[in-house]
Amino acid sequence: MHFRRLCGCSLSEDTSRHLTTTLGLRRKNIMITCNESEMRGVNVLRNPWFNKSSTFTEEERDRYGLRGLLPPRVSSVEEQTSRLEEVIASQTTPLGKYLILDGIHSSDEAAFFRLVIKNIEEYMPLIYTPTVGEACQKFSHIFRYARGLYVSIKDRGRVRELLKNVPTHDVDMIVVTDGQRILGLGDLGINGMGIPIGKLALYTACAGISPQRVLPVTLDVGTNTESYLNDPLYLGLKQKRVDGEEYYALVQEFIESVRERWPNVIIQFEDFQNTHAFELLARWQDKVPCFNDDIQGTASVCVTGLYSAMRVTHSKLSEQRVLFMGAGSAATGIAHLIADAMEEEGLTREEALKNIALVDSKGLVSSQRTDQLAANKVTFAHDLPLASNLMDAIKIFKPTAIIGVSAQAKAFSKEVIGLMSELNDRPIIYALSNPTSKAECTAEEAYEWSDGRAIFASGSPFAPVTAHGKTFVPRQGNNSYVFPGIGLGCVIARPTMIPTGVFLTAAKRLADLVSEEDLEKGSMYPPLAQVRELSAEIARSVAEYLFDKGLARAERPADILKAVKDYMWSPDDPHFVCGE
Ligand code: NAD
Repeated sequence: MHFRRLCGCSLSEDTSRHLTTTLGLRRKNIMITCNESEMRGVNVLRNPWFNKSSTFTEEERDRYGLRGLLPPRVSSVEEQTSRLEEVIASQTTPLGKYLILDGIHSSDEAAFFRLVIKNIEEYMPLIYTPTVGEACQKFSHIFRYARGLYVSIKDRGRVRELLKNVPTHDVDMIVVTDGQRILGLGDLGINGMGIPIGKLALYTACAGISPQRVLPVTLDVGTNTESYLNDPLYLGLKQKRVDGEEYYALVQEFIESVRERWPNVIIQFEDFQNTHAFELLARWQDKVPCFNDDIQGTASVCVTGLYSAMRVTHSKLSEQRVLFMGAGSAATGIAHLIADAMEEEGLTREEALKNIALVDSKGLVSSQRTDQLAANKVTFAHDLPLASNLMDAIKIFKPTAIIGVSAQAKAFSKEVIGLMSELNDRPIIYALSNPTSKAECTAEEAYEWSDGRAIFASGSPFAPVTAHGKTFVPRQGNNSYVFPGIGLGCVIARPTMIPTGVFLTAAKRLADLVSEEDLEKGSMYPPLAQVRELSAEIARSVAEYLFDKGLARAERPADILKAVKDYMWSPDDPHFVCGE
């Protein structure tokens, strides 16, 4: 394909031509077919992919027939960014800021991503959790711009037809939800669409997957939330959820249809209820390139934190004893990946599993329990005495690390942290429950009650803490550190499937990227502001792993990191590139 900048070609020569945008100079291959009228006047301003708003140059204003349609003075991108930051800052509520950002996203994509990339730490909580949660709850009341694809149970048998309406030529990444377990908010039905939209915005901002190569999808199989069924403005099907084989048949038709249209597409399952989440992985993970971020991404980012802790304690993961407070999907997902990591260091699976134990609402998960244990807990039910609470479980299991994923605020009490500090020189205390109000302990509590010896990480952000004569900078085990790079690595390698090794590979690479200075400050993760460079490195390692394992369908590039960086879209890439 030969590319030349649009500024050198005359649109009137041909009414139907291919236009490529972004990274053309880096051989980026986003093809958009449009005709001359679509590339003139208000049509340009109304197309978020083409629109540059006040930053159109004098020359572009003449070329696209924009003169008079914009205020006369041309803004620099810096001025445009400052103007938009001012509007966002003027909003007094997170939802107000979200709505402004959503409007920018829907009218000028480059401006939106420039803003998000520049202010990633400030805006990520707006375009994703926690604010996206509120936006989802109100989705049917604040809906303004159509984005993505909705597939309802009534579309069974015609999903392929539906896909023909999707204007995107090449889709590399799909995030799909059925809205049943949105964040910690429960069944939001169609309103859950805010999640795939937000997550894919992060794929673009954090890993440079072009906004023209992603597709957010919501499967509408109904909702069991009465308030939505009674809400006249609710935009989803007004019926109870369909389950069982009818449900799985829709998912199957959807997966087969998207794979037919885009054979290389990576599918990320998001915010499915536990049973469906595990079942969908079991059905599909060996057949198509797919993963579940709630289970596998969470595990990867948590194991990153443990690998970082090993750098602090100069020990091995296989020497740790890890006790989970909580035994749900996060706990068992992380626990299995820890066992994989321990196996990789030479333990047998049996030995590895024995180093991991769970505490649920009834106490230590043990084979001596008489109640019926859920299937996901059975693997970790060792022959241990009964213990009804965390303190007793710690006395029995003698962990080196405790990981809180129980959403039980304050479960890591002064006594718990005191006991962990008696047992360990450097106790590993990870309070991963979200939101902040549900955290098992605060950063300050962990450092204070351990005499400054705790190695701490959290699920929600905590400000730096000064304790025992030292300032600690705790960091959040945010999934956004890993899923964008994992997705990007898979896009480059085009695997036939995504094995568990990918998530360990990502964890190891990310832990290697934590600097000595970060570890010294108590940070088990690098600054989130570096996320694009981190994602590129994770993607390189993930792609390398997939090529090495013979799972990649793409041709192996001579320089994988270069291929990753060449692929990455940036809002500052050349605006239009014309291909002939
Ligand atoms: P889940 O509902 O599947 O699991 C919760 C578990 O906590 C259950 O096993 C339950 O038995 C247990 N539990 C409840 N009360 C308890 C008690 N009193 N004592 C001990 N255990 C108790 O939820 P999940 O998806 O596993 O998520 C759990 C928490 O982890 C949430 O707060 C979530 O926000 C957080 N999380 C954080 C990250 C991250 O930081 N990257 C990722 C995923 C989940």
